[in-house]
Amino acid sequence: MVFPTERLAVFVDGCFWHGCREHRTLPRSNASFWRQKIEGTRERDQQQVAWLEAAGWTVIRLWEHDLPEPGAQRVIEILDALRNPTPET
Ligand SMILES: [Zn+2]
Repeated sequence: MVFPTERLAVFVDGCFWHGCREHRTLPRSNASFWRQKIEGTRERDQQQVAWLEAAGWTVIRLWEHDLPEPGAQRVIEILDALRNPTPET
């Protein structure tokens, strides 16, 4: 999900592919292959966030297990904050 006006990018990461700590279960066969693959995904995730933030974007990453309610709530709150920035005092 991308909100270009507010420069907000929302990613929903799958628990397995992105190595969620709560739900990560590595297949028993080829465990080291999978560990490497998931590590690679996590590194790419972090790079992506770094690039976007460097370009002035706000990045929200949600886990698939966060959805739908709390995740949606967080997106709405952040969108709100971006639309109505509190003047710095
Ligand atoms: Zn999870």
